[in-house]
Amino acid sequence: MQNLDAIYAALPERLLPWYAENARDLPWRHSREPYRVWVSEIMLQQTRVEAVIGYYNRFMEAFPNVEALAGAEESRVMKLWEGLGYYSRARNLQKTAKLLVETCGGRFPDTAEALQKLPGIGAYTAGAVASICFERPSAAVDGNVLRIIARMTADDRPVDLPAVKREIAERLEAMYPAGHCGIFTQALMELGACVCTPKNPDCAHCPMRGICMAQAQNAALRFPVKLPKAKKRVEERTVFLLRCGAEYAICRRAETGLLAGLWEFPNCTGTLSVAEAVRWAEAQGAAPFGIVREVHKTHIFTHIRWEMTGYVLDCAEKPGLFTWADFAALTETYALPTAFRMFLEELEISR
Ligand code: SF4
Repeated sequence: MQNLDAIYAALPERLLPWYAENARDLPWRHSREPYRVWVSEIMLQQTRVEAVIGYYNRFMEAFPNVEALAGAEESRVMKLWEGLGYYSRARNLQKTAKLLVETCGGRFPDTAEALQKLPGIGAYTAGAVASICFERPSAAVDGNVLRIIARMTADDRPVDLPAVKREIAERLEAMYPAGHCGIFTQALMELGACVCTPKNPDCAHCPMRGICMAQAQNAALRFPVKLPKAKKRVEERTVFLLRCGAEYAICRRAETGLLAGLWEFPNCTGTLSVAEAVRWAEAQGAAPFGIVREVHKTHIFTHIRWEMTGYVLDCAEKPGLFTWADFAALTETYALPTAFRMFLEELEISR
């Protein structure tokens, strides 16, 4: 078995030149300004780079600095986040922006420890910002980095165990090259995103080839080992797409819990039949007089799967318990999470 220290030590010496040759040109890499790096790292959590680029550019255009984000209408921030999911990320971004503007003139703290005290900033984001923006030897250990290290060291312990993750972070931090901390963090991320990918590791073109233990054993896909995942809970829901003239009923979700504070089409748990859905709409005072379509959609959250049955119902009344919005307002003004936005195409067909 190779010496673990030698494997870790090889990382900076091999990755830095490789990154200089192979780094992708991504919009958030044009600057080391903490605001821009922080927003990009929050957006990139659980989300693919290709999906983030458009959101990032629009967000930066609307809120070019921490003061602009702190002073923005929350509804605007949520609208620009619409479709990215994990909406608490956007709320925490604005909460942190306000805190920074109110307490320290909009400046970011420059250590991982201090960054982690801000809302929505965990160890990974703190390590990324501290190393990329402030050249601190702070590791940013996410799934990509855990996968690379588990493969390089043929480590068959579950990488989601906190003790394993902590050990990897500590070993990495001991290897951070002074003066190149930011580049080293980004090089690790890049290797995980482009070469040592979950399903198709490109060992033939990897700068760690020759020292990587998984590659030597021809067993890259055996790593990383993970704890078994909890099964997703399935929840059936009925979604009421109530249409009156050119407007549709929407309402706001509660301020806490799943999709807190976002807009939704009225809905309830369980799968109602057409007759039951019509009775439900009658009970709300919407006076339904025709069913236009019945549709079925599935949306998967981290722990829950929603199986949704939607009914597009023509109604004669607009009860005041709902907000009524035309199609343009639904697409441009109100922040509808993906679970409900997926019904917009049905409304478009039915227009
Ligand atoms: S050699 Fe293969 S398994 Fe090892 S780090 Fe590179 S891509 Fe990953």
